[in-house]
Amino acid sequence: MEKEKNIRDILSERYPNFFEENTMRYSHIPKGWDDIFISFLEEAKRYIETSGKGDDFKILQFKQKWFRLTIYHTGGDDYLADLVNKTEAVACNYCSKCGVLVDTNVNEIERGRCLGCKNDSW
Ligand SMILES: [Zn+2]
Repeated sequence: MEKEKNIRDILSERYPNFFEENTMRYSHIPKGWDDIFISFLEEAKRYIETSGKGDDFKILQFKQKWFRLTIYHTGGDDYLADLVNKTEAVACNYCSKCGVLVDTNVNEIERGRCLGCKNDSW
């Protein structure tokens, strides 16, 4: 059976400039938010490459805190800070376990989970 590659290894390989030595040791996000987090890194990378700005942008830690995606960062510029805020806000609409988009106008996400996943173990 093929072993699934750890998301943190993939991130370190793909975006080595974004992470400090200890970032991965203290970071973890639930699987449901992997795509959102990768899209965020892609966007940040593209911005830095095309604008030439914010190349000291570093992610110190990313995790689930109080059921929300939380990204601690340093450096960068206003655009990147805004991108971090948007990413954290967007993740609130997705189930942290299965990644399904929940229409928050109709259904509440409970503790970062869709109603189908809310009673599953952490
Ligand atoms: Zn779910």
